[in-house]
Amino acid sequence: MSFIEKLAAIVGPKGLITDEKDMGGFLTEWRDKYQGKALAIALPDSTEQVAEIVRLCAETGTPIVPQGGNTGLVGGSIPFDGGDELILSLRRMNKVRDVDAGSGTLTVDAGCILADLQKVAEEHGFMFPLRIGSEGSCQIGGNISTNAGGVQVLHYGNTREQVLGIEAVLPDGQVWDGLTSLRKDNTGYDLKQLFIGAEGTLGIITGAVVKMYPRPRYQQVAMIAIPDPAAAVSFLGLARRLSGDQVTAIELIPRIAIDLVVRHVPDFTDPMPAPYDWQILVELSSSATPDLKGLMESILEEGFEAGVVLDAIIPDSIAQQERLWMLREEISGAQKPEGGSIKHDISVPVSKIPDFIKAADEAVDKVVPGFRPVTFGHIGDGNLHYNPLQPVGMDKQEFLGKWEEVSRTVHDIAASFRGSISAEHGIGRMKKNDLPRYKQAVEIDMMRKIKAALDPQGIMNPGKVLPDETNGSKTG
Ligand code: FAD
Repeated sequence: MSFIEKLAAIVGPKGLITDEKDMGGFLTEWRDKYQGKALAIALPDSTEQVAEIVRLCAETGTPIVPQGGNTGLVGGSIPFDGGDELILSLRRMNKVRDVDAGSGTLTVDAGCILADLQKVAEEHGFMFPLRIGSEGSCQIGGNISTNAGGVQVLHYGNTREQVLGIEAVLPDGQVWDGLTSLRKDNTGYDLKQLFIGAEGTLGIITGAVVKMYPRPRYQQVAMIAIPDPAAAVSFLGLARRLSGDQVTAIELIPRIAIDLVVRHVPDFTDPMPAPYDWQILVELSSSATPDLKGLMESILEEGFEAGVVLDAIIPDSIAQQERLWMLREEISGAQKPEGGSIKHDISVPVSKIPDFIKAADEAVDKVVPGFRPVTFGHIGDGNLHYNPLQPVGMDKQEFLGKWEEVSRTVHDIAASFRGSISAEHGIGRMKKNDLPRYKQAVEIDMMRKIKAALDPQGIMNPGKVLPDETNGSKTG
């Protein structure tokens, strides 16, 4: 039997795509930055099928690209263009296996869509706190594999902090059932941590146990105009202190981001009373403080007095609050029609955010005079999406031709503040060869040894995360 026939025998006709014209959405990513070719797409519907496929690939030396919702932003879920890799999509493994209200846990298949999982938690009176713009398409297995962040990390932590247990298929086809819901377990190395953020290079996550949290009964959002990014940092300290740490999100939004959403997304009007340069979207959540609006107003009053607040809107209805969040979520897409945009996902210590923005703006302007900085994101985590947009009138390709130089400039500045070049999106293909510049040799050496120990054949998502010379033959 050929490889494809053996695959078909494992997954059946519904679980296999071999015709290139049906592979479309699996071969290209959301930003169209990466396209590839695949031998086939396998869509198993059980952990046993995943294990059989991986054993077949291990026997034949076939490289595997695990794929979740394919919303990743660093090319990790896209094969290279040689056409010799198998995409293993978790799409059909989308069941909630167990809801344990007593333990506050959900046990799920890795292919569960994040929004579906949030809904199940809500139906049981809980919430799952991972909230990201792609939640309608991304899968929990992809979230775990990228250690996704989002808007509530400030209060609840990133994905790593939500995971209690993992089920994974190792590169030799063994199944590891680590589906524990224990909150305490100090029996040696915490192996699940290896798979969280590994971007599919160490094995395939097939299931997980994640935490649920009590759903806050009250929530209040405000859009607050501030004089500059330093005021955002000061406001955060003030709000946390005055609210008893009930700030669940704080997002930095520049004027240009609002203008782009209003210009390119139908039915959006500018919510601000005047065109301020900077604003923050702040959310308070609580079950114990019914009058969160009153609390927000008193925090704002102190903010005015301290000179860190210029103006604010505090919506009354839930619908208006949701509208402000939608505006925030539309920022990513609203940059697209404006031409070239060079994306960054950096983090620095929270207190260094203002210095980072100033230094990056000055330095990038020397590389591309007149560029338009779209600088937004999770300021409470020190995580900014620092996205230089092409100057008006510049040729898009000419601007994108500066990608490496601009990124090197931005990343060097983040590193000078002991920051990270990838706060929440991962490394994938995009940043793998930048790692030696920003990580210590001893760190890369440890990563290489872990990879070699678990995946000696190098079949699991080769050419991703690890720099080229340490990660098999895939390059690009
Ligand atoms: P994929 O894109 O399919 O895969 C991502 C990586 O994980 C790949 O390397 C893949 O090989 C691997 N992988 C996927 N599933 C598995 C598995 N089961 N086992 C092993 N490896 C696997 N990210 C944030 O962190 N915060 C945000 O706020 C955020 N906002 C976004 C907004 C938009 C509009 C978009 C398009 C993306 C955003 N992202 C954000 C990025 C992206 O949604 C996340 O990285 C997400 O966690 C990826 O999940 P996925 O299921 O789409 O994974």
